[in-house]
Amino acid sequence: MTSSTETTGIVIEPQAEKINLLGLSADKLERFFADIGEKRFRVQQVLKWIHQRGVTEFAAMTDLSKGLREKLGDLAEVRPPELVSQHDSKDGTRKWLVRTDGGECVEAVFIPEKDRGTLCVSSQIGCSLDCSFCATGKQGFNRNLSAAEIIGQVWVAVKSFGGFDERRDRVVTNVVMMGMGEPLMNFDNVVDAMGLMMHDCAYGLSKRRVTLSTAGVVPALDRLGDVTDVSLAISLHAPNNPLRNELVPINRKYPLEILLASARNYLHKLPDTHRKITIEYTLIDQVNDRPEHARELAQLLKELPCKINLIPFNPFPNSGYARVSGNALERFRDILYKQGYTVTVRSTRGDDIAAACGQLAGDFNDLTRRKARHEERYRRNENQPVRMVGFNGS
Ligand code: SF4
Repeated sequence: MTSSTETTGIVIEPQAEKINLLGLSADKLERFFADIGEKRFRVQQVLKWIHQRGVTEFAAMTDLSKGLREKLGDLAEVRPPELVSQHDSKDGTRKWLVRTDGGECVEAVFIPEKDRGTLCVSSQIGCSLDCSFCATGKQGFNRNLSAAEIIGQVWVAVKSFGGFDERRDRVVTNVVMMGMGEPLMNFDNVVDAMGLMMHDCAYGLSKRRVTLSTAGVVPALDRLGDVTDVSLAISLHAPNNPLRNELVPINRKYPLEILLASARNYLHKLPDTHRKITIEYTLIDQVNDRPEHARELAQLLKELPCKINLIPFNPFPNSGYARVSGNALERFRDILYKQGYTVTVRSTRGDDIAAACGQLAGDFNDLTRRKARHEERYRRNENQPVRMVGFNGS
């Protein structure tokens, strides 16, 4: 046994903190086993025990030799995040609050539909961006989640459905990185976790069923196609830069034309053709829901192979925004239809357990003081009319 290694970057010392194997990608697990003098095929065995059978005790991994089980017990552990609470909505949506290392809590949500079950996973504790209409953004930021804490949400969800049983039909068929946080601000850990979601010896989901959603961290998006081929969603929410600067502040750094060029490049890097990007557009009453916005959006996206997902804004306390009206939603959708776009409207799910899109808030210490600033700003303006941002930011 080595006391440390330069090959993996993983320090292995008998007395050191144990390595949590839950979040190690297949490559990292292979290097871990190489470092302790074990063969490559151990990777498949251990991945299956952890992710397909839900086993956390090495003693129960019966196809490993006794000596290896003891060695693993000395060096490593399989430690999922602790389940704090589970809430079930009357519409079948299920939300989990899990405690991460350090005690902070994040949320994951499962949304059942007729032909699929989608798990929405968090990538950060809070969010390092500050989109003006997002409950998570208003809570501030604590830190990035580790790969173990990200894939651990999938592990907890599968377990909660009695999942680790090969004879049962799969309940979680899709994973979207759309929970708390901006996934591309936590690039390496998110890529490792998504790799496990798709690995045949772990969750075995197809690349079309794992989706990363980004608000537009362009340098990271430029790199993404070099390391993965998952589906991509862009949180757009506005058809022009002035309005998007207000709603999604990272747009000031990476404006729409740069973001959409990077999204097109991502598609070009994928080995298979006919892939489309999903454009997420949250419709907010009298902010970005006018016919002019729809027409401008249709024009903006005409060079991008995409489908558009319209999301009626889900109000939360102190948001200052209101849900789009039914008429405005239909009008907006019809304009896009007529321009030839595939348009879906996301139905609101899990509203009764605050699990609807944009409502996740977790329970954590905000290290940025953004939450306090938002609350103070709201207190100062509480008798003022809701601020409107109109067409072209007017
Ligand atoms: S919408 Fe996404 S990127 Fe923006 S603040 Fe919320 S979690 Fe962060």
